[in-house]
This record gives sequence, C-alpha cells and structure tokens, in this order.
Amino acid sequence: MCQNSLSSSLSWQEIFSCCPLNRQHYCPTCSRHKLLLTPSDQFCQGCSRPFTSADDPFQKGYIYQEENGDKHYYCWDCYRWRQLMPAICLRHQALLEYNPIMKQWLASYKYGGDARLADFVVSELQNLAKKYSHYQWLVLPSSPQHLAERGFHPCELLLQVADIGYACPWNYVGNGQSQASKNRQQRLQLASPFELKREQLLSLQRPYLIFDDVYTTGATMMRAKRSLLQAFAAVSAPLMADDLISFSLFRET
Ligand SMILES: [Zn+2]
Ligand SMILES: [Zn+2]
Repeated sequence: MCQNSLSSSLSWQEIFSCCPLNRQHYCPTCSRHKLLLTPSDQFCQGCSRPFTSADDPFQKGYIYQEENGDKHYYCWDCYRWRQLMPAICLRHQALLEYNPIMKQWLASYKYGGDARLADFVVSELQNLAKKYSHYQWLVLPSSPQHLAERGFHPCELLLQVADIGYACPWNYVGNGQSQASKNRQQRLQLASPFELKREQLLSLQRPYLIFDDVYTTGATMMRAKRSLLQAFAAVSAPLMADDLISFSLFRET
C-alpha cells in the first residue's frame, strides 16, 4: 500500500511444501495502523464516534434518557437521530480507527478502484464474522454509476474476499444526481436511493447485521434500518432490539 518493498525470500519449508503460499502483501508499518476499536465511554454508544473534545459541540457526548430510565451517551448525530428514530436504529459499531493510513487505504481501494487492496482487512472481518456468525449479513446497493466506474461493489468485494456470506435485499433506485440540484418536492422523492425487495428480505432469517465501509452522518444507515423495521411491522412481525445491528469498518469523525 505504501509502495515499500517487502522481503520475499522463500523459506526451505515453503519451497518443499506443496501448499499455496500464504504471503503478506502489506508491510508491518501499514498493518500496525489497523487498530480495533473497543466500545468505551470515550466513544458514542450509537455509532462509535470518538469524543475528542468537551468544548466542541460536534466532538463531545450528550446523555439521552430513554423512557425506561436507561441512559445513552451519544454524539450529536446520534442524539438527533434518536429524536427521530427508535432506539433499535442506534445500534452501530465501527470496527477500526479511521486514522490517516486507513483513510489512504479506503481512498485507494474505494475511490481509486484498486480492487487488489480488498484483502487488507480480511482477518479483521473474519474475526467479526466468527463473533456474529448467527447474523444474516446485509449490504446496501451501490449506484450503477459507481459500479461502472469501479467495476466492483466495495463492501461486497470485502465480504467475498473474507468468505462471508451476505445478501442485498434492496434495489438502487436513486438517479445519482446531487440533492442540491433538486427542488424540495424532488428532494423528498429522493429521500431514499434504495427500495426494499420485501419478499427477499422476509425470506432471510433474522437477526440482521448491515455492513458498510464508512459511516458518515448515519443517514444512509437510518434509511436502510427504517425500511427493514417498516417491512416487518407491516407483516406484524416487528423486529426486536437484538434483531438488527450494523457495523462499518470506520466512523468518519
Ligand atoms: Zn506499507
Ligand atoms: Zn453517534
């Protein structure tokens, strides 16, 4: 990733073994920047955003008290979301610290379209999959324009490389045009760029884990979760607190 050369000398064992070589493609310096986040009071309980300053309103935590007396420590985004959405929608965790090296990796992989970099986080994803193996993993659809530009779906490819099964029970229905160029009525119609394939969703066993690469304001994730909640409410089988969680590799700060 950093273009530093890697030592590639073969051991005697590798030369005489008939197994495929399992060689590292990344140097120790790059790999050291994959830092797992552990939930703590330094992070938002709704989305893993780190609280970095008690003075900055966007970097500090807010206490939200539920009707049953439970208190949650949320970032500003989650606090606002909780006023609009049920608590089940605020069960998101980011897996890794979003530091400059990881930003560089995501930029080259997702925005630069370098599919070879998909294996950088394979062991972290496999560990997560072991812990959440009883969940049905879901990914959100990519716009056809982005798919054509990159030639791959960034989240799907990560899961394929990590050998994690998933489903995508939504169709992409946005037209890729920016929200700013629309009037209010058109913006409302654009509210969700994807449409739930209800039959497919109902055929998948709960609980669900929605996986995304990077969580920004949460708007996309909230729409996705709301579509699931509505679909199950409509068939009188509402999702319960443990039926729906989400993970992203990173939380944008
Ligand atoms: Zn490197
Ligand atoms: Zn949050």
